[in-house]
Amino acid sequence: MAEQISLKSSIEVLKGVGQKRAQLFHKLGVDTIYSLLRYYPRTYIDYTSYLPIAEAAVGETCTVRARVFRKAPEARIRKGLSLFKVFVTDGENDLVITIFNSKYMYEALQLDREYVFHGKVTGNFFQKEMNAPSFVPYQAQMEMMPVYSLTEDLSNKVIASTVETALKLIEKSVFDPLPAAITQQYQLCHFEYALRQIHFPQNAVALDTARRRLIFEELLTLQLGMLLLRSRNRKQTAVQLRDSRWEAFEALLPFSLTGAQRRAIAECVHDMQGRLPMNRLVQGDVGSGKTMVAAALAFVLARNGYQTAIMAPTEILAQQHYQTFTGIFSKTGLRICLLSGSLAKAVKQSETEKIAAGEYDIVIGTHALIQDSVSFGALGLVVTDEQHRFGVAQRSRLAEKGENPHLLVMSATPIPRTLGLIIYGDLDISVIDELPAGRQKVITMAITSKKRERALRFIREKLDNGLQAYIVCPLIEEGESDLKSVETYAQELQKGPLNGCRIEVLHGRLKPKEKDAVMQRFQSGETQLLVSTTVVEVGVDVPNAVIMMVENAERYGLSQLHQLRGRVGRGSEKSYCILVSDHPGEENRHRLSVMCKTSDGFQIAEEDLKQRGPGDFFGSRQHGLPELKIADMTSDMDVLRQTQALAKELLSEDEGLSRPEHKGLRRLVSLLYAQNKGQLFN
Ligand code: ADP
Ligand code: MG
Repeated sequence: MAEQISLKSSIEVLKGVGQKRAQLFHKLGVDTIYSLLRYYPRTYIDYTSYLPIAEAAVGETCTVRARVFRKAPEARIRKGLSLFKVFVTDGENDLVITIFNSKYMYEALQLDREYVFHGKVTGNFFQKEMNAPSFVPYQAQMEMMPVYSLTEDLSNKVIASTVETALKLIEKSVFDPLPAAITQQYQLCHFEYALRQIHFPQNAVALDTARRRLIFEELLTLQLGMLLLRSRNRKQTAVQLRDSRWEAFEALLPFSLTGAQRRAIAECVHDMQGRLPMNRLVQGDVGSGKTMVAAALAFVLARNGYQTAIMAPTEILAQQHYQTFTGIFSKTGLRICLLSGSLAKAVKQSETEKIAAGEYDIVIGTHALIQDSVSFGALGLVVTDEQHRFGVAQRSRLAEKGENPHLLVMSATPIPRTLGLIIYGDLDISVIDELPAGRQKVITMAITSKKRERALRFIREKLDNGLQAYIVCPLIEEGESDLKSVETYAQELQKGPLNGCRIEVLHGRLKPKEKDAVMQRFQSGETQLLVSTTVVEVGVDVPNAVIMMVENAERYGLSQLHQLRGRVGRGSEKSYCILVSDHPGEENRHRLSVMCKTSDGFQIAEEDLKQRGPGDFFGSRQHGLPELKIADMTSDMDVLRQTQALAKELLSEDEGLSRPEHKGLRRLVSLLYAQNKGQLFN
């Protein structure tokens, strides 16, 4: 071949791929031969093993080998719908193959020839059927066929044959991005073998070998990227604490700090005395008192002449932090500012000017704080609260503000340890594993709506005794389904069982000012019951609230329920969490029973991971982590650990992956993180 074809070539060099088809492939993220070969099958049809028809269970997807013994003539059911029936046998039992509208398929099945069929078995025990199965002619050496995720107008067959063409073109000596030392040490197959087998496996063992290698490569790449990201964020900081004493802070509080809080504060203060910026996560269950850690640090920073920025995910939380901080620091002369989205333009303008002039020591706000328009006079520390709402990319944007300020993220979402390694791979971690003294365990019960009335009477009792409660229900507005809206729900309570109680509603559609007002009235005790959507989920702190009732509890993940439950049990009164669900499913029952049994956030997170997969934790890529093609966070944990150790080792020997043997790895990392627009290499 005269023209040099490489992995970088556009797929248009392949036979059968014109401009139009290339555009369809583009939709799948496939442009080059390399990306085509990296477009792994979603699954496989394994024609290498099949069952006797007798063992193919109705309702299951099965593979059977059978011979065609009769072909019924085409039956026209109505205009535009033809039905073809083909009768096949394995010698013992028969099966009816039904094909709709495809004369082509019908004709492909020849009388007296053997085929292997793959599809869902329907019909009944006496007469089994398969509708529109996949099939291939039977031969001595059967294969596993790849099944790809498709896009409109691009069939599985076209993708498979395009991949096949590409595989024929690439040379045996294709460059392996993994260094030979690694493939040898971990007994991984060669890149080229892996690519061939992942698309067209000879058998299950070969597929396994290929998968293992590709998973290893992917997770290694991911970890290298995380570590590089971390070191990139670690340019020297200009913010070094000279005065690191913080004991005076504790004297400002009405309580003494827990050991875990002290430890976390000390770890942070220690970090901030170094030449590199702190990059730390404080993880602690709901109610463990993370806010005090932030306050203590802001105190230290202010004493050293630096500003602290505190970002909360919602206006309500920002507001709450503002109140907490102004309360604690009322006698210290620290200057605190709330930069809220609802400020009038002129006020905002003057506040931002003051921030820039360094006239505030502590600035509290929402995400808006990282907007480019806000600049700081002497930013020393950025705290992001409830960090699971912030992504990796946002974190690094923050780091760009000021002169490499210290960074502290606080999260109440317990993340299974192993997942934490990935999500927070770029952070050091402090765990607050101790609740303030005197906290009582929240009593949790799961009920059906039959017992709702009783539950409401119970709530009424508590309200009458001067305590407060939340009821969470899913929807803002009527319609969509028969689920109740917050508004209607509140009205019904007001008219009926909670007649005379002071009830208010809270939901995401309220204007920030209205939300604040509602929250304020609840916080002050003016409102007794808050009927809300999950906007109360994160961080809201009202110690006098003792009941959290959740309607349609089946709609929430365990971690989310745990967060909701964390809104109560914050004072010294006994608290209750009531989960209402009429959902009959076994899985739901199990989930709710987990909630009733344990209050350990980490255990709940592990359970959530098991049941719902990592999607919840990674939620629509909001963490800014690259999307994985083949590795699975829940089942490939061993490889994850292996590759994590290896990644550290590699970078300790070759900081920028600049040695020639690491060229391939370096390229893999750039490719994986390309969507992040992260400049991992200088
Ligand atoms: P979270 O970790 O969920 O953010 P908060 O910081 O909101 O928790 O604290 C929850 C409640 O516990 C607040 O009312 C706070 O004042 C209180 N608190 C924090 N630390 C202590 C402590 N050491 N002793 C007693 N109460 C504390
Ligand atoms: Mg909090």
